[in-house]
Amino acid sequence: MIEYSAMHNHPGSEFLFIAGPCSLESKEQIQTFLQQTRQTHLRAGLFKMRTKADSFQGLGKKGIAIIADLKKTNAFDFYSEITDPRQLEELADIVDVFQVGSRNMYNYELLRELNYLGRPVILKRAFSATLSEWINACEYMPDLNEKKIILCERGIRSFEPSYRNCLDLNAVVYLKETTDFKVIVDPSHACGKASMVAPLAKASVMAGADGLLIESHPEPKRALSDAEQALNLEELLLLRQDIQNLCLTMGRKVTF
Ligand code: PEP
Ligand code: MN
Repeated sequence: MIEYSAMHNHPGSEFLFIAGPCSLESKEQIQTFLQQTRQTHLRAGLFKMRTKADSFQGLGKKGIAIIADLKKTNAFDFYSEITDPRQLEELADIVDVFQVGSRNMYNYELLRELNYLGRPVILKRAFSATLSEWINACEYMPDLNEKKIILCERGIRSFEPSYRNCLDLNAVVYLKETTDFKVIVDPSHACGKASMVAPLAKASVMAGADGLLIESHPEPKRALSDAEQALNLEELLLLRQDIQNLCLTMGRKVTF
């Protein structure tokens, strides 16, 4: 498990590269992903907050059993979204870092429960939240504080319809200057388009981000959610290598 308190934006600090599919779809999907990428920081959603109620909602509890099974023979930290406090007990068996999604940043009861549990939390920015609203939300997790909360900029809503959201790199620079929080970037949801992910990821490194959260799928065309923004495994490995090279020039080591 990565030492979160050791992650700071200065030369020599670790850079966290988290990747995986938007949704966990099957054991085979995750097995293939792990084998081909050797990622030890894996993301995958079990409970999905889909905009449309008739879209795929995630495997839910079935996914918990799949991850528990895979953890017997593979060493990885599992990052996954919790959408409701009632999922906490079961998810706690398999989730190493909880993701609070953009739609739940204001769900203060959920944040209170996560504070009580004490495990690291990635708090995504709501798509219209100001930076102070985002930081105020962190205050519902006082025991986690800067040591165990990781902020994730995932794009905000703008007037431009050509891409899904607008990546606010200003926020990364500003938060690194004014707070002690770790700040990572999710370029996948920020743009919604696979071809835009790599350039935005590299720009995030230059802006001083502490890590990246990237969506990737063994067969993007067949993904049950967010197919258009998923990198295939070849693209993911290429991006990871580029990020490693870039970080090296800044004296930073990439953990993946
Ligand atoms: C996700 O990471 O798959 C996700 C739903 O992200 P967000 O909450 O940023 O929309
Ligand atoms: Mn997604």
